[in-house]
Amino acid sequence: MNRALYPGSFDPMTLGHLDIIRRASLMFDELIVAVLDNTQKTPLFSTDERVKILLEATKDMPNVRVDSFRGLTVDYCMQNNLHTMVRGLRAVTDFEYELQIAQTNRKISDNKVDTVFLTTDLQYSYLSSSTVKEIAMYGGDVSHSVPPYVESALKEKFKVIKR
Ligand code: ADP
Repeated sequence: MNRALYPGSFDPMTLGHLDIIRRASLMFDELIVAVLDNTQKTPLFSTDERVKILLEATKDMPNVRVDSFRGLTVDYCMQNNLHTMVRGLRAVTDFEYELQIAQTNRKISDNKVDTVFLTTDLQYSYLSSSTVKEIAMYGGDVSHSVPPYVESALKEKFKVIKR
């Protein structure tokens, strides 16, 4: 079976991520979308919240599984017998960063984990979780960037934070 991992912070998932998930799900028999539970970063959404959003987003994609993990992505790959990672590319700036990570992952996995890149759909090329959070924090419209349930979750978060 042809399986792949799409790892990320997904804080929160945007329509850009969702587009990559949908397209990758058509290329592999099984796609595992895994939220990185990074103890070094303070995300806006907890790991559970980020997983719930991804579960909602992928409920109509039977070959997509959602999970979360801590530690090195290549360790997660090895533990789950995964040898392909999917990552999205928006611009040249993404490329430099992603190239370095992909080469590092290949090296530290003893050439067992390769990365496949999907280029963003042009309509989402400007989209990032950080800009979405910033716009939402100031009460701006993010309806073109995230699904409605993420928009509500963002509104709820910033309502709570402002109190
Ligand atoms: P990271 O895993 O680096 O913390 P994210 O969770 O934001 O970052 O993104 C996970 C993956 O999705 C990365 O490969 C990133 O380049 C890609 N990605 C993020 N936003 C978009 C977008 N709008 N279009 C395509 N790919 C994207």
